[in-house]
Amino acid sequence: MYRPSHHGCIEVIVGPMYSGKSEELIRRLKRAEIARQNVLVFKPAIDNRYCVENVVSHSGVRFKAHRINKASDILTYIEEDTQVVGIDEVQFFEEEVVEIARTLADRGLRVIAAGLDMDFRGEPFGPTPKLMAIAEFVDKLTAICMICGDPAHRTQRLINGSPASYDDPTILVGATESYEARCRLHHQVPK
Ligand code: ADP
Repeated sequence: MYRPSHHGCIEVIVGPMYSGKSEELIRRLKRAEIARQNVLVFKPAIDNRYCVENVVSHSGVRFKAHRINKASDILTYIEEDTQVVGIDEVQFFEEEVVEIARTLADRGLRVIAAGLDMDFRGEPFGPTPKLMAIAEFVDKLTAICMICGDPAHRTQRLINGSPASYDDPTILVGATESYEARCRLHHQVPK
């Protein structure tokens, strides 16, 4: 990837769960810090996975992050000398995150956003598709299908071990819910 160093840009890292989006985001952020750039990282307050104060990957690497309730909160943290803004789990933010990213990139900042491109139904997820459209760089990562070992582009939602239906509610009281990476062939969404 050739990234201009003298003006802003938007980079988007997408893929299903377990595809290494957080790992890749953290790798880029650590390199920016090594380059002595001023880095700020954000994640939605809704994402309490592993730790509230860090972006953490499934493999355990982490980077300090601010938990925010809405994308416009990012603007309150930006300082004169901020150069790089990382956003994890970007799919959970409202549509306004697209405009915030655009504004920051127009101001000369490097914005790196990571998130799910599809929900468990295999449909475009929240603001991610729009962000992909206006980004300079998009990396679509794959995980490994838990059924066949092929590259996986999708996230399988399981409720009590069985594929979740298209219309199953987001919150299911008393049910055990889990997610795994699956290829197109093995991704199931009963109607
Ligand atoms: P994401 O942010 O996309 O959910 P993470 O960066 O948190 O992904 O985690 C990626 C790590 O998850 C991999 O490096 C690997 O250690 C682990 N992992 C667990 N299950 C899988 C899978 N099915 N395919 C690929 N990696 C997996």
